[in-house]
Amino acid sequence: VQSNIPHQTDLPVSTQGAPSLALLQSIIDELPGIIYLVRGWDARIVLANNAARGTLGAHWQPDQSLLDVLAAAQVQISSEEGRPLPLASPAIMQSIQQRKKITPRLVHVQRPGGASRVLLAHALALDPAPLAQLQTGEKAAERIAPEEREPWALIVLEDRSLHQEAEQLKQVVQALKEAEVIKDDFIATAAHELRGPLTALVGYAEMLKEQQTGKGGAELAEWQMEALQIIAHDTMFIANLTSELLDVTRIQAGQLELHRYQANLVALVQRVAKRLRNATQSHELSVEAAAPRMYVSIDVQRIEQVVANLLSNAIKYSPEGGKIRVTIRSDQERGVAELAVQDQGIGIPESQHAGIFNRFFRAENALASGAEGAGLGLYLCKELVRLHHGRIWFESRAGQGSTFYVSLPLLAPGTFRESGPLGT
Ligand code: ADP
Repeated sequence: VQSNIPHQTDLPVSTQGAPSLALLQSIIDELPGIIYLVRGWDARIVLANNAARGTLGAHWQPDQSLLDVLAAAQVQISSEEGRPLPLASPAIMQSIQQRKKITPRLVHVQRPGGASRVLLAHALALDPAPLAQLQTGEKAAERIAPEEREPWALIVLEDRSLHQEAEQLKQVVQALKEAEVIKDDFIATAAHELRGPLTALVGYAEMLKEQQTGKGGAELAEWQMEALQIIAHDTMFIANLTSELLDVTRIQAGQLELHRYQANLVALVQRVAKRLRNATQSHELSVEAAAPRMYVSIDVQRIEQVVANLLSNAIKYSPEGGKIRVTIRSDQERGVAELAVQDQGIGIPESQHAGIFNRFFRAENALASGAEGAGLGLYLCKELVRLHHGRIWFESRAGQGSTFYVSLPLLAPGTFRESGPLGT
């Protein structure tokens, strides 16, 4: 870009210590935004700053009209509605001279081959007397009658492209948030409505199954028995999924409340393990605790949900069976109880580790294994553990099993009641 800054020695030097044009030039060069100092009805350029030359790329000669310079550089200036706009028309210069307030306006500026930019244009009237003195020398300026003095103005263009993009992004984010709330409301309502009939279905399916297993109901054909098993299994699956969805929407809305009690974590884990041991014949499920009692302040039902989820995942993702080891230890120094659930199953490929606790995430090998699931369990575990101020993490490699860990704050010794309803 060719520089047209007049060399300092070409400028008249003020005799009374007033700033010279070169000083003004160096000041406006440092300012952000595009700045033109213009004078006269045809807005002739006296000074333009670095940003002006860099952004609009126009070469100019001192005293050349700003409109001509922009026209020569084929710079298109238009209103927000796309109407062509002269940046410094005689009408604007007249308003400037009459000291009318000129409202800053947004303009779109485009250079040939360049992207359109949004600029906020200000036109500011300046007192012509001292400026005329600066340019023509003190004595000459004094001889010009005030009414004959030409208007002087600063045209300042602020880049608002980023600001406008940020505004648009903000609106998109807001719209997405609103859509998310509507979607969550919809899921919550649907899940809520489904829960009642599903509970009835699960109950009746179980009742029919029990009637068949030795309680004197009418004899069913083998295919009818199989159909009954499928109905019972699938309704249970949908019922679980529905309650997971309900929990997810509650968490998203910040409406999941914990009902905390002081409870022995070891007893809780043993209870859940016993339940799940009954659900599998091909896995050997062991629980080892470093002490018989470790007290934590928890929502018992919610932590049972976390442990059940980790154990049923260990079973589900070990299709060949094998050992599932649950260990519980306490770290008095850090004040936490730590639970580990270790399996010998399909493991989790390293490339999938980052997404494991995300909603609806399922690793590729889990999908390929055909194991059913919606990818909500670990998301819920993470959120429930977080609400308890605990931590959840895992170690795993494809084909080499997984270990999931949960740590929960221990109650300080002496603060718990040994004989609570859940304290054993
Ligand atoms: P789901 O089991 O319904 O898919 P989860 O949220 O419980 O959902 O788990 C998310 C994903 O994490 C699973 O789909 C699976 O890819 C992986 N995963 C969880 N637990 C294990 C495990 N013990 N072994 C291997 N992969 C696991």
